[in-house]
Amino acid sequence: MESFAIRSYLDTITRLNNLPISDQREWIFHHGMLLGSRAKWWADFGIRHARHEGLDIALFRNRAGAIQWLDTQTRVPAMAKGVVINLCRDFLGRSVIIRHAQDQTSRFVSVYSHITVPSAVVPGTRVEKGDVIGQIADTTGKKSGIHCHLHISIMEIANKIPDSGITWEIMGEPDLKGVKLFNPMIW
Ligand SMILES: [Zn+2]
Repeated sequence: MESFAIRSYLDTITRLNNLPISDQREWIFHHGMLLGSRAKWWADFGIRHARHEGLDIALFRNRAGAIQWLDTQTRVPAMAKGVVINLCRDFLGRSVIIRHAQDQTSRFVSVYSHITVPSAVVPGTRVEKGDVIGQIADTTGKKSGIHCHLHISIMEIANKIPDSGITWEIMGEPDLKGVKLFNPMIW
């Protein structure tokens, strides 16, 4: 299977969007943006209602040395070759679920959340690494007060859950319903 290395993915985002970042090490992650964190990185910096199910990508230091946010112009690429198996709502936009591999018991997926999705991306759409599957959603005006960002999750989801049933109802309850989380920082 293709590499899911986060560095490769951040590099793809950089090139796709011509971001003015000089070195991948200049991406910035608050601890609340990391897998498993209970910390909010927005609003009151309080406690999340559940452990974070993935990685939030939002901030980098630009070539002028200033900290810059990704914005709603940011196009979102697929991490690897696969097939879109479902789309669902999330609390800031929509999520796209892409299957990369499957065996007798489960399939391995990547999830892209808080985005807007073009009408051409539907269940059954085949993607290659780097193909654009959406754009970061505008979250201004949402009462959550969360700056727009891309959330990604890497999951193994039991085959007993149908493709159309892969929503945040089950993805937000890992380990209870046949969903296993992986750390995108490692994959
Ligand atoms: Zn997130």
